[in-house]
Formats: sequence, structure tokens, C-alpha cells
Amino acid sequence: MSNQMQPIFILPEGTQRTTGRNAQRTNIMAAKLVAETVRTTLGPKGMDKMIVDSLGDVIVTNDGVTILNEMNIEHPSAKMIVEVAKTQEDEVGDGTTTAVVIAGELLKRAEELLDQEIHPTVVSKGYRIAAEKAQTILLNISEQVTEKDTELLINIAITAMTGKGSEAAKEKLAELTVKAVKSVMEKEGSKIMIDRGDIKLEKKVGGCVEDSEFVEGIVLDKEKVHTGMPRQVKNAKIALIDCALEIKSTEIDAKIQITDPSQMQAFLDMEEKMLRQMVDKVSKSGANVVFCQKGIDDMAQHFLAKKGIYAARRVKKSDMEALARATAGKIVTNLDDLNESDLGKSGLVEEKKVGDEDMTYVQECRNAKSVTILIRGGTEHVIDEVKRAMEDAVGDVASALVSGRVVAGAGAPEIELARNLRLFSDSLSGREQLAVKAFADAIEIIPRTLAENSGLDPIDIMTELKAMHDKGKKWAGVDVFTGKVIDSWKAGVIEPLKIKTQAISSAAEVAMMILRIDDVIAGSNKDSGHGGMPPGMGGMPDM
Ligand code: ADP
Ligand code: MG
Repeated sequence: MSNQMQPIFILPEGTQRTTGRNAQRTNIMAAKLVAETVRTTLGPKGMDKMIVDSLGDVIVTNDGVTILNEMNIEHPSAKMIVEVAKTQEDEVGDGTTTAVVIAGELLKRAEELLDQEIHPTVVSKGYRIAAEKAQTILLNISEQVTEKDTELLINIAITAMTGKGSEAAKEKLAELTVKAVKSVMEKEGSKIMIDRGDIKLEKKVGGCVEDSEFVEGIVLDKEKVHTGMPRQVKNAKIALIDCALEIKSTEIDAKIQITDPSQMQAFLDMEEKMLRQMVDKVSKSGANVVFCQKGIDDMAQHFLAKKGIYAARRVKKSDMEALARATAGKIVTNLDDLNESDLGKSGLVEEKKVGDEDMTYVQECRNAKSVTILIRGGTEHVIDEVKRAMEDAVGDVASALVSGRVVAGAGAPEIELARNLRLFSDSLSGREQLAVKAFADAIEIIPRTLAENSGLDPIDIMTELKAMHDKGKKWAGVDVFTGKVIDSWKAGVIEPLKIKTQAISSAAEVAMMILRIDDVIAGSNKDSGHGGMPPGMGGMPDM
């Protein structure tokens, strides 16, 4: 009998596997690369990225989550970092770059501890303790805000937009933001609820950013389909229809043989009759406005116009949903089901000229909690970036009102947090203490990056900042414009507390998760050129 062992394969052929320190290093490396990519965009002086997709479309942006989404990152642990940005986007709407940069730095500091032979589980435990403590520290240093503090709220919106495409008109846009958020706010006792979905950000190229306006109701980028329709409908009863007002072309190729001219006429008459019936169904319900998610045939348009019904077609699904909420109507998928109780109501539906195009305004809605900010701007690229900045501003103002807590920004809360974490770490012993200290060091990446991105010497600034904080100046931060240390609260750089707490907790979570991985098993992916798991940075674009 031969002594020789047969090699044993427990995994299918083509599977790639990395284990132990190798796996850890690759994962940390990938995560760091993601963070490094967005780091240069942080803060008002951060740079923008231009991303060109496979179809040649260009996006110019400074927004962390947008950059990462558009990059199509493939590496699995890099993807986990992208998830942090997405969570931040969902929970707050702003602070995506901050979250990713912190995650990257936490891993970088962890790697240094691993190099000192500290076990990943110990690092992970220390990080957990630090992340929990951070929540309490941040809450303690935060200040209160209510809906009466209009100036403070406007400053929150301005802070969110500083350095973004909307820079030029940020005061005006900040006012619109605060107005919009306040008008969708609901109060239940002392509890404040805000659904960001109630605020529709609609854009229209043309004019300039200052021309942006606040509309109580919904604005649709649609004109009425027929010139014979009324421009204005008061006491609108709105049918929301999700099926075409057209004769369906047959799915199979059918040939109709017509042998004499009268048959042709009969055929056309038949079509006309069917379209007329459709329109009759609409008008029988009592509707005087129709928003159709699909197409409306020319003939049907004509019949609708004759009945004095206002109609718009190919309305976006998201707009249909917004309309349903705003007007308390029901989206109907089959005309036969349409009846009066499905109709939405609004005081006024009107076609208005915006620049030189027509848009539909649905105002005085039943649910007053639906508002639109109509964003104007010179070009598509400008307007898109303004919209992203406005989304951040809306998220920040909403988040500040909901939790009622804010902090000043410009790196101040991070320095204060790091300082307090270090004090706290003295009460711990041994290796966990090292991990908590590493966590504190990692948080300081935010002020350091703000300084670096403004072309300042980070070492000088950091030393000065820390000295100020030791003297009890908790809001000492970086003035990215002058390079000096400022009181960021007095300077009006204000952010919701949740930006910071959420960024830190999700960054810590993903860092801990990546640290605990010591084995990466990737099945072979036969469809794509580069297997599922690149040993290096397979998924990252060349930089
Ligand atoms: P994020 O995607 O994380 O929101 P931003 O590019 O919006 O990234 O940058 C946010 C950072 O910029 C925060 O730390 C914030 O405090 C800081 N910041 C915003 N406005 C100012 C300002 N006027 N001066 C200094 N720092 C500012
Ligand atoms: Mg921001």
C-alpha cells in the first residue's frame, strides 16, 4: 500500500481562496483604496470627480455615495465599504464621504495593531467599546435645536451645500429647504416626524439657480397632451392611470385581409369606437384631469380635449406615486375598475411656462404635506449636482429636527470626540486600551483631511486644534477658507448630530466585520473575465 495521500479537493475547480493574514491584508487594502478615492472630495474645499460611464455619460460630482455608486466597484470588501455610504444616505442623506473615510482609517489603524501581533478579535472588541462610548460622548457635546431656530436650520442647510454646485445661490436654496422641510413636518406630542419622500426635488434646465422655487404641491415635467385641453382646471378630480389609452398592437403578427374599401372603414371605425369608449370610462368616473403612466393615442387625446379633460402622458412611476399620496388618489391599472372613489383631488391643476417649456403644477392638494422644490440651473450637469446638494440639505435639516440635536462641524466634533475617547481609554487595560486609542486617532482623519484638502499644513492645524480643545473650546474647528482655527458654532458651520453618530457606528461595524474575516472563498465566475475574487484589486478601476 502506498503511503502517498491523494490531494483532497473540498471546493470545485476554479475556486479562489485566500486565507489568514493574506485575506485580511487584501480586504483592508481594498477598503482603504475606496476611502482614499473619496477622501479628496471631503469638505467645502474638496475636489470633484468626473465619472464617465460605459455609454459616455458624464457625471461631475463631489458626493461620496454618488461616486461610489457610479464606480461599479466589484471587490467584495470594497463593496462592503460602499454599503456604509448607502446606509448613511438612507439614514441621514448626508455625510457619506465622512462615513467611508472613517471606515478606511479605522481599518488602516487596525492593520497597525495587527502588525503588533494584537489579535483581530481584540481589536474588534476595542472598536466596539469605542464606538459605543462615542455615541454618548457625541450626544453630550451636542446642542438642542427646534423648529423655531430658523437661523440655525438655515445654517445647517448652508453647511450641507457649501462647496457643492449650489454654492452660488446657497442662501436662497437654504431658505427653500427649510421652508420645505417645515411644511412636511408632522408633530405627535413632542415627537417630530418627517418623511423626506414628501419633498419632491424636480429639476428644469434653464434660467439660473436663483430662479429655483418652492411649490406647495407637485410639479411634473409634463405638458398637456393636446392644445385643445384647458390650461387650468379648478377643483380637479384626478384619474391616475397605469395603462395605455391606446389600442394594443397585437402581440403576434397578425395579418388582416381587407378585400373592399368599406371593410377598411369599418376597421377604422371600430378603432375609433374603442378609443371613445376608453375616454367615456374616464369621463364617467367624473375625472377632469388624467395622469397616465403610459401612452395616450392621438384620437383619445382628441376625445379627452373635447370633453375638457386635462391630460398628461408617460408620467414617471415615482411621480405617479407622489401624485397618489398628494391627492389621495388611487393608481388604477384597468380602466374598467376606475370609479369616483379612486380619483385624487386638488384645488388647482395648471400648465405653466418654466423657461420656455411647459410644466404641470398640481396645487392645493388634499394632503398638504407634499411639496416640490423646482431647481433651475444653466446646464444639466450643474442642475444635477445642485439637486444632490439639495438632497443632502433636506436630509440634514430633517434629521436635525427629528432628533432635536445638532453639533458644529469643521472637524470640531471629531477632535472633541477623540480627546474624550483617549481620556476614557485610560480606564481600560492593556490591549483594548490600544484599540480604543487607535479608534480615537482614526476619527481625527476628518479634521486632518479638511485641512489637507484646503492646502493647509495638517500638523500645524491639528496641534493648534488639540490645544484649543484641551482649553475647553469644544467647537474649535478648521476654517478651510482662511486656514485659521475658528469657533465653528459661531461661524455657522452646523450639522445634525445624527450625521456623526451614524457615520461612526456604521464605519465601526463594517471595520469590525472586515477584521474578523480570515478566509475568502470565491467561486469561479465563468461569465466574467476576471474571476469572482481578484487576488489584488481586480474590481477597482485603474487610478
Ligand atoms: P460628506 O459626504 O461627508 O457630507 P462633505 O464634502 O459634505 O462630505 O464634507 C463634510 C465636512 O465638511 C464636514 O466635516 C463638515 O463639518 C465640513 N464643512 C462643511 N462646511 C464647512 C465650512 N464652512 N468650514 C469648514 N468645514 C466645513
Ligand atoms: Mg456633506
